[in-house]
Amino acid sequence: MATEQTFSILKPDATRRNLTGAINAVYEKAGLRIVAQKRIQMSQAMAETFYGVHKERPFFKDLVSFMISGPVVVQVLEGENAVAHHRELMGATNPANAAEGTVRKLFAESIEANSVHGSDSLENAAIEIAYFFAGSEIVG
Ligand code: UDP
Repeated sequence: MATEQTFSILKPDATRRNLTGAINAVYEKAGLRIVAQKRIQMSQAMAETFYGVHKERPFFKDLVSFMISGPVVVQVLEGENAVAHHRELMGATNPANAAEGTVRKLFAESIEANSVHGSDSLENAAIEIAYFFAGSEIVG
């Protein structure tokens, strides 16, 4: 297995409930390393671009509103097979379907306010990381 980097967001429901440390503890205990991290307020334009792939979906407008409803923590996680490993730790999109012990099962409020984002492929990870971080901000 190769060492990979993936992109993670701790969403506004997580920052609002002071859960950033608890969520990152799940990732770090599982062996993922946080090699870049910052707390930001996304603009509407940023959120619309980031979730552009979903722009025709019925939930798009509400999702954008949710993502700008408070600060988020954006981060780069590094580790063996990091893209798939992170997705496994996150759990299913809908917390009702998420496996025991996953971040979404433990912490998510709803299918929308589901606490975390994670890249779904290595290709998207590279695009998403570059959208939020300069190379000099990533320190392994
Ligand atoms: N989402 C939503 N309603 C839905 C499906 C998704 O509000 O019916 C939101 C949810 O916050 C999710 C995000 O849109 O995390 C992106 O959806 P995607 O299908 O890419 O899920 P993910 O990769 O985050 O599990």
